[in-house]
Amino acid sequence: MFTEDQPRIRNWINGQFVDPVSASADAAVQYLPVTSPFNARVIGHVPLSTAADVAQAVASAKEAFPAWSNRTLKDRAGILIRFHSLLTKHADQLADMVVLEHGKNKAEALASVLKGQETVEYALSLPQVAQGKILEVSRGISCYDTRVPLGVVASVVPFNFPVMVPMLTLPIAIAMGNTMVLKPSEKVPFTMTKVVELLKEAGVPDGVVNLVHGTAEPVNALIDHPDVKAVTFVGTSHIAEMVSQRCHKLNKRVLALGGAKNHMISAPDCNIEMTSTDVVNSFSGCSGQRCMAATVLLTIGHQQALVDKIVAKAEALRPGSLAGEVGPVIDQASVDKITRYINEAEASGARILVDGRPWTKSQSEGFWVGPTVILHTNKQDPALHDEIFGPVLSILAVETAEEAIAIENANPYGNAACIYTNSGATADHFIKRFSAGMCGVNIGVAVPREPFSFGGWNKSRFGNHCDITGDGGVEFFSTRRKVTTKWVPQENASWMS
Ligand code: NAD
Repeated sequence: MFTEDQPRIRNWINGQFVDPVSASADAAVQYLPVTSPFNARVIGHVPLSTAADVAQAVASAKEAFPAWSNRTLKDRAGILIRFHSLLTKHADQLADMVVLEHGKNKAEALASVLKGQETVEYALSLPQVAQGKILEVSRGISCYDTRVPLGVVASVVPFNFPVMVPMLTLPIAIAMGNTMVLKPSEKVPFTMTKVVELLKEAGVPDGVVNLVHGTAEPVNALIDHPDVKAVTFVGTSHIAEMVSQRCHKLNKRVLALGGAKNHMISAPDCNIEMTSTDVVNSFSGCSGQRCMAATVLLTIGHQQALVDKIVAKAEALRPGSLAGEVGPVIDQASVDKITRYINEAEASGARILVDGRPWTKSQSEGFWVGPTVILHTNKQDPALHDEIFGPVLSILAVETAEEAIAIENANPYGNAACIYTNSGATADHFIKRFSAGMCGVNIGVAVPREPFSFGGWNKSRFGNHCDITGDGGVEFFSTRRKVTTKWVPQENASWMS
């Protein structure tokens, strides 16, 4: 079953590729086929690792921890500077891997690698920004605090950004002195196998970063392992909540980012050209498989000119892998889910202004659904409320700003929300009322960039209420040691002395 063009993926433990433990015992390890979304061709096989593989990876990370955490932050950042150069040198190759296994177009894939680089840049600046504080708290007595790494940490990532999402955690976690076991998505396991080789080439010691492939079993084994001190998870909300609850039961530090349903609101005074371009790029970019994608557009009043522009721009999109083209979605289950939501909305009276269903092919020819724009009249349509995770935009006209805010606030997620307007006062009114962690003004994809942290509210984020990346990442991946010192005996000493 394994051939040169359909290779068997291996775990990365202690600086080398290894077969899962069960393979050496009785060859009983199970593999899942990995398919390219463009044409459904099998491009490899990913192992379903078990708790035994996790134990091996955690042991390697634990062994690497004392030496790695004893190096200075500056020393670790120095290694990340070399990693940054290697990522730049190999960005094109990594982007090609992302295109193949994920289905993004090349420009999106390259942008995702470069966005990952931003967190590396932040991590290598930590010697300048992660110092603790010191204060003479009473005469002759000083307090200072330092940030101490946690130990072995785990990172579980989704399929939609094979490099970028791992880079939301890995650089800061290891720069702060932790060692890591990362579990890539079984749907896109290839790209990170190249990244770990680059980490090794940069000088990251063996055992500092390990990869274990598979699905739920290694995730649960990582959570339950007593030597794993913290867990980050990015994926769907129901699994994020399960991961968070499992960690809480063990009193384990956890940050679990979940799904999204992001509302865009267009005020009557919005710039129609800019808004239509942004909204179309946001809902169709990466084939809608972004937790920050625009999924619902609430127009205040019937904004026919804006809707017409959105329709025209969405209709002009073509399938493909080049810049500006729309790639496939990840798998057949995703195609089925997306088309089901479109069918249901149509059956309940919605108008399908742009129909992506004709892009679908037979299952053996790839996983395609085109950009779709739905004009709803029934506020109960599931497409308006559920995360679809495909290139689908739901438009609903509302009467007032307050109605738009009420709809946005009622949705259980809280990743992103955006207001399109030319008025600062209107923007301010909405930003203060959105129930979302990442808000935008005239921005289709309101992703905060380093040094700002990334993270939603409500059912888009579970856990210890830190954000990921930026100072939230530093906070999550370290704990504070507080030190109180006195060197000179004090007269009139109080009980504190
Ligand atoms: P997913 O939840 O299916 O999988 C995420 C990870 O969990 C994968 O590594 C998977 O192998 C693992 N997993 C699967 N079943 C599990 C189980 N029962 N127990 C424990 N782990 C399990 O998500 P996905 O489909 O890969 O990714 C898409 C989702 O991720 C969307 O909901 C999207 O909004 C979300 N996402 C969120 C953010 C964010 O920052 N909030 C960023 C990217 C993606």
